[in-house]
Order: sequence, then C-alpha cells, then structure tokens
Amino acid sequence: MYRVEQLIGGVWGAGGAGGELTVLDPADGRPVGTVPVATADEVAKAVEAARETAAGWAATSAAGRAALLHEAAEAVAAAAEELAAATTAEMGKPLGDARGGVAAGVGTLRQYAELGPLRGGRTLHGDGDALDFMLPQPRGVVAAITPWNDPVAVSCGLLGAALVTGNVVLYKPSERTPVTGWLLARLFDGVFPAGVLSLLTGGAEVGAALAAQPVDVVAHVGASATGRAIAAACARTGAKALLENGGSDPLVVDAGVDPRWAAEQAALGAFANAGQLCVAVERIYAHRDVAEDFVDALVERAGALVVGPGRDPATELGPLVDRRHRDQVHGQVTAAVAQGATLRAGGVLPDGPGAFYPATVVTDCRHEMTLVREETFGPVAAVVTVDSFSEALRCAADSPYGLAATVLTGSMSHAQRAFRELPVGTVKVNAVFGGAPGGAAQPRRGSGQGFGYGPELLDEFSTVKAVHLQAPAGGHW
Ligand code: NAD
Repeated sequence: MYRVEQLIGGVWGAGGAGGELTVLDPADGRPVGTVPVATADEVAKAVEAARETAAGWAATSAAGRAALLHEAAEAVAAAAEELAAATTAEMGKPLGDARGGVAAGVGTLRQYAELGPLRGGRTLHGDGDALDFMLPQPRGVVAAITPWNDPVAVSCGLLGAALVTGNVVLYKPSERTPVTGWLLARLFDGVFPAGVLSLLTGGAEVGAALAAQPVDVVAHVGASATGRAIAAACARTGAKALLENGGSDPLVVDAGVDPRWAAEQAALGAFANAGQLCVAVERIYAHRDVAEDFVDALVERAGALVVGPGRDPATELGPLVDRRHRDQVHGQVTAAVAQGATLRAGGVLPDGPGAFYPATVVTDCRHEMTLVREETFGPVAAVVTVDSFSEALRCAADSPYGLAATVLTGSMSHAQRAFRELPVGTVKVNAVFGGAPGGAAQPRRGSGQGFGYGPELLDEFSTVKAVHLQAPAGGHW
C-alpha cells in the first residue's frame, strides 16, 4: 500500500485536511494506496507559496534549468519499473503499455531539456542605432491538472515544458492515478529547488479550487466538460487556459483497401489501452464495398485478444479504470443496440471482480447515435457503413470534437482531401498511431485549445517581451 503525501511550499506531508481517498486496483478491487485531499484553503496557500518562489526560479539560467530537467529525465528513467507498476495497479493498463508511457515521458523530458535553452525570438533592425528583439520569459505560476489514462507521459510533458521555460508548477494528478503522480513529483522534487514544484491531491473539487486561483496558466488534459469549466474559471481570473480534451476520432476505411489490414488498424485504434486513449478510434466509417469483410476480420480480432490483469505479461486487454466508467461505456453500447445497432462482439458485462469490459464491435450504427457522436472511452468499435468516400468525410467532419482522424486509403487524392478538409488537429493516413517523436498537436472545437505537446508547448508556457533598444541622445551608448 502506498501512502501519498502532498508537497506544498517545499514541504512534504503538508495539508490533507479535506479527507482521504483510497485508490483501488481495477483488476481486482484491492487497495493500492491512500491519498490526502486538499482543502480550498490549502490550495490557496500552495499557490501563494509558489508565487513567492516564481521570481527566483524565473531568474535562473535557461541552461541551468535544462541541466536539471536532464537530471529529472534520468531519475524518471531509473524509476521506470516502479512508475509503470504503479500505473498498472491504479488504472489497469497492460504493463507493457505502462512502460511505453514512461519511456514516452522520458523522451519528452529529454527533448525539452535540449530545446529549452535554444529558444529565442526575432531581432529587427530599425533606423541607425535602434534595435528590437524578442525576449521569451516564463508566464509565472502554472497549474497542471492531469488525467489518469496515460499519467506519466502526459504529466512529464506538462511539467517538463513548464519548468524548463522557468515557470513554477502546481501539479494536480488525477484522483484515479495519484500514486503515479506522487512518485513522479518525488523524482522531480529530488532534482529541482524546493518550492518550484508543488503536489496537490484529491478529486475534481481540488482541481476546481486550483483553477479558480490567481495563477498565470491552467494547463488541463482531461474531459471536455472539465476543460469548459476550467476555461470559465480562467475567464474570471485572467489566467491562460491550455486545454487538451476529449475526442471522438473517426477512422475512414476507403473502398479498395485490404479489409484484414484495415481491421488490424481498427482493432489497434479501438482496443489499445481498453479504448481509454484520447486518440482512440471511436467511430468507423467503412465503405460498403469492404464493410462486410472488414467487420468479419475485426470481430475475429476482438475475440482473439487476451484479457486479464495488466500486470500479467500476456494481457492485451486490461480492465477499464473503474466500474463507474464501465457503466458509462456499457450504457452507450446498450443504448445504440436499443436504437437498432447490432452487437457483433462483446457488449456483455462479464461476471467476476474488477472493471473488465470485452472488446466490442457494434455494426449498423447510425451517425447520429450517442455511441458514434460522443466519446465512449472504452474498447468499443462502432461501425457505420457508408456509400462513398465523400459521405465518410462528411460524417467524420460532423462532430463536436476535433482531436484527430485516420483515413485508410490507397488513393492519394483521397488522402489529400482528408488532410485538407477534416477540421481536426491531426490527420493520420494509413496508420492509427505513430508519427514523429515529439510531434505537436493542436486540438479544435470541444477537444481543446493550444498545443499540448511538441516543441510548441514550450511557447505556450512562455510569454514574449518585445524590447526596443535605442542609443541615447548623441548617438553613443
Ligand atoms: P477529467 O477532466 O475528469 O479529469 C482530469 C483532471 O481534471 C483530474 O485531475 C480531475 O481531478 C480534474 N478535474 C475534474 N473536474 C474538474 C474541474 N471542474 N475543475 C478542475 N479540475 C477538474 O478527465 P479524466 O477522466 O481524468 O480523463 C479522461 C479524459 O481525458 C478523456 O476525455 C480523454 O479523451 C481526455 N484526454 C485527452 C488528452 C489529449 O491530449 N487531448 C490526453 C489524455 C486524455
């Protein structure tokens, strides 16, 4: 059993008068750790303490901050096994995936440590001795509020980018993965000066109390409804809101593609991390010419997945994060079936402990069903059969979200239409996952605002001051 502590004003074990939460392993319901809950007053005090540290940290050299971030990356790499095991115990993902999340986090920290000191701005030459230059500066106090589905990778991105650009950070990990957040905060705190990073724990109310504080940036990765509440809170305080939120990513399966290959891609996109990825394949528009063979192969793949606890090395499909979430996923599936969709695989609540949900394939879906339009965040492939690539693109574009989209096609003109026309932050052609390491993403609509990843995240956490230099009267300095 882990015993999580908060870190406020450089002091471990501070606060927690808001009560205590217990995190349960979603594979078997066993307790993993206990977590203190911050009160609103503790949150306010933490922000005050962070504000006092901000100017000193901002005044350190970019190279010095980068050197510390390199050290933090090494510390996280050295603790990879413990971090991965804690993630799996708290939210259920297969251990191999959890290790991948830690490796991604380490890669991001290293990248930001390299890029941090290289940042600059344009220099403009005016008349005679006049010179303008751009000076990047930290924004000040950053609140980083993170989700549970890939806790190390997401947190490393936000913490690394905010710290290396000279901001102090108040970190509020998800109440579903606080142990992982606490382990990470301890590693960072072992490297950075006291007070530069604070850890606040608890649920939505702690996040809301933090977002209501007079901080400079609230960076939130999580659900779209939360993002909207945070944007409203930021509108009141004047803080910048950086939001990486939910999605309902479409997969378009064009006529003429190999249906078995398309099914492998669809299965990967819909069932990886039990569908609990912001960029999971949530809805599939399959051309009628290939739909039948595609669905048969997808059903076969769904039935072949090895289901079990994430800690078991053979497991391909672990449990969902908890039963509350499982009820939401199952509710969407049963509603679609009640409205005429056909269950081809899964869709039945299993007996036994934990929050397991089978890989599920639902066909005869219609574009307007909640299962298709909303984020499901479970191992569910909802298939809509379409008659043309144009119809598929039209449906794919018609969404309250705008995170990412994938098209599987052998046609270059169709690929081009997809990446030009789809109103999303990322378009992927012929692969549901992948892309260059360190790639950026800028979501649209209900999926958020601002760059949550990539080198551009360093810009999000910085502000740029224009400096106008002119020689004094007489023309000499
Ligand atoms: P969530 O928004 O419920 O929780 C995320 C964090 O926000 C938690 O720390 C939580 O305590 C806090 N929070 C909740 N309500 C709050 C409020 N009113 N004010 C301030 N903070 C609040 O999301 P989740 O369930 O943890 O994560 C799943 C969601 O995250 C999915 O929608 C998924 O698509 C999204 N996600 C998006 C990305 C991306 O990059 N776009 C990445 C990962 C996850």
